[in-house]
Amino acid sequence: MIEYRNLRIALLGGGSVGAQVARLLLEHSDELANRVGAGLELVGILVRDLDAPRSADLPRELLTTDADSLILGADIVIELMGGIEPARSYILTAINSGADVVTANKALLAEHGAELFEAADQVGAQLNYEAAVAGAIPIVRPLRDSLAGDTVNRILGIVNGTTNFILDRMHVAGDTLEEALATATELGYAEADPTADIGGYDAAQKAALLASLAFHTNVPLEKVYREGITGVTPQQIESATKAGYVVKLLAICERLIDPETGEEGVSARVYPAMVHHSHPLASVHGANNAVFVEAEAAGPLMFYGAGAGGVQTASAVLGDLVSVARRHVVGGPGFAASNHADLPVLDIGKVTTRYAVTLEVTDEPGVLATIAGVFSKNEVSLALVEQSMTPAEPVSGSHAAVSGTATLVIGTHEATEAALAATVIDLAANSVVTNVASVLRVEGV
Ligand code: NAP
Repeated sequence: MIEYRNLRIALLGGGSVGAQVARLLLEHSDELANRVGAGLELVGILVRDLDAPRSADLPRELLTTDADSLILGADIVIELMGGIEPARSYILTAINSGADVVTANKALLAEHGAELFEAADQVGAQLNYEAAVAGAIPIVRPLRDSLAGDTVNRILGIVNGTTNFILDRMHVAGDTLEEALATATELGYAEADPTADIGGYDAAQKAALLASLAFHTNVPLEKVYREGITGVTPQQIESATKAGYVVKLLAICERLIDPETGEEGVSARVYPAMVHHSHPLASVHGANNAVFVEAEAAGPLMFYGAGAGGVQTASAVLGDLVSVARRHVVGGPGFAASNHADLPVLDIGKVTTRYAVTLEVTDEPGVLATIAGVFSKNEVSLALVEQSMTPAEPVSGSHAAVSGTATLVIGTHEATEAALAATVIDLAANSVVTNVASVLRVEGV
């Protein structure tokens, strides 16, 4: 049945994901060969340290530290080293020597994707990256292939397992952010330096990739608006819960109309947001990921599963490998990155959403009207106002509370970020407001 020559596979990286890819490739070589129509011969695994412990028992003779010899003899190069250099140079070497490439490297693609896709396009090479977004979850090829005939309007993604685990703990166990982060670290869900995760950088890289793919537009990382979860407080979690919401770190990619020009544009952004408990994303617990896609004809679609993990991510890498290898056998150029729409990436100020604003105000007559006036002046209309009293500590020697403060929770209708930002500045400067305690976007409506 198999008439094509063996394809030579070079693996760059034998770490968490790489070791599992190598193991599965060796264990399932006959079955994979039948699926591809050619044998997949693992010719070497590039590592830094030949003696480092591996998560799978790999043949010692496959390990090498000689990148050039490995890459230059390969039909397909799988890059699982991570980082920018030397991964970028190795991928360019592979492409320019006629190899196809599979990578899981979101950081590299988010920063240098345009250059790498251009290089692949020049020579008709394939560059696949299913594992770069949401680990094991198939989302890149569904967007690129299955939804190729539809129009994607919006994507809401929980694409970082560490932050989802932390926020989930804050909801379910009542932890503070610090306590939840400590548990995440203990269980291996958070890196020793958690900045990339809790600062929203990792999610922003994935948002750039998803938005580029969904909107046929190059969305560079620097145009992705980003807020992490470090400002999320137990009070915000508590009041979101009371109102029937959960707080999730979302990567949002959206088609929008520019409020100034009336022209179509796109937005890619990452921030913690309130999601109603009835939305499918609200039930994504622990370190799981999910990507909720809203397409014009297909309607809402939800992709859910493990966003990380060596063996889980290896599944996505091997899926790419089989796909790339099949095309290698059949012949013809790879898919070029699709950037023809070339839509403008809109500034965060032009994004429209709803907000929940919590204010501490002095408890005196006319306060509500004053606050409503501030919102109205900035053209932000109110959907809901709830008030709770916080009596002041009794003055020593007296039995009565004098004046107290009140907490107002205000839900808005849709407004632009620019209008909301101006409102918050005015609120903070207003004498009846003692504290703008929290501002959270409400998404998924
Ligand atoms: P990892 O465990 O740190 O493994 C990296 C591997 O690359 C190691 O085998 C290392 O060699 C090798 N390596 C690194 N720099 C090298 C260099 N300069 N020369 C030669 N070898 C080098 O990383 P990982 O977790 O498997 O992640 C790999 C990629 O998959 C990353 O791009 C990551 O973002 C992506 N990814 C990972 C996951 C996940 O759950 N882990 C999920 C989705 C995507 P030594 O072993 O000798 O040190």
